[in-house]
Amino acid sequence: MQLEIPPGDFAGFIFDLDGTLVDSMPLHYRAWNEAMKRAGLPHELDEELFYSLGGVPTLRVAQLMGEHYRLRLDPQKVFHEKEGLFLELQAELRLIEPVAAFARQAARRRPVSIASGGPRDIVHQTLRLTALAALFPVVITPEDVAFGKPAPDMFLLAAERMGVPARECLVFEDAEPGIAAARTAGMQYVRVPSRRASATGAISAKIPPTRSAAAGG
Ligand SMILES: [Mg+2]
Repeated sequence: MQLEIPPGDFAGFIFDLDGTLVDSMPLHYRAWNEAMKRAGLPHELDEELFYSLGGVPTLRVAQLMGEHYRLRLDPQKVFHEKEGLFLELQAELRLIEPVAAFARQAARRRPVSIASGGPRDIVHQTLRLTALAALFPVVITPEDVAFGKPAPDMFLLAAERMGVPARECLVFEDAEPGIAAARTAGMQYVRVPSRRASATGAISAKIPPTRSAAAGG
C-alpha cells in the first residue's frame, strides 16, 4: 500500500478507524448483510451501498439502508443486531499496518486522535483488540458531536481536544463521507486505499446532515 502523504509539517493527526487503521470493512459488511437479511432484505446487501456509507454514524446507516431498500425496519433494532454480529467477528480484526506504523511514528512527536463513526463502546473495544488503545488518548465518536460524518464536527472536535489548529491537522480516511468531512473542516487528508477504493460517494453525497444525538449514535 502506497500512502500519499502531503508535504509539510502537521500539528496533529486524525485517523478514521474502520478501513483506515483496521481492516474491518469486510467484517462490518458481513454483519450488516446478516442484520439486513433479518430485517427482511431478500437478497445480498449491495456492497457499493455499504462502502459509500463508510464513516457515517451506525444508526444513521441503518436508517439510510432501510430507506434505500424501502424496508419498514426499526433502525435501533437493526443497529443493535448489527453490532452484536460484528462483536462475534471481532477476533478476525487485523491492522492496516502501513497506516498503523505511520500513526505510531507520528505519535512520538505530535498529538494523534481517532474520529470514528462507530458506537463508542465498539470503537474502544476495536482499539483494545488491536493494541492501539494506548496510542490514542483522544477518541471521538458520534456520541460526542451534533453531526457525524460527512459533517466536519468530529474532526474539528478532535483538533480541539488535541489542542492544535484545525487547519494544521492531517486526516487519514478511506471513505467518501470522511473525505468530505475533512474538506469541510479545512484539513488536508490522506486517502487510504480500501479494498473497494472505487466505491465513491454516489449515495453519500446525498446524505443530509442528521443530528447524531437524534440518531442515538
Ligand atoms: Mg472508514
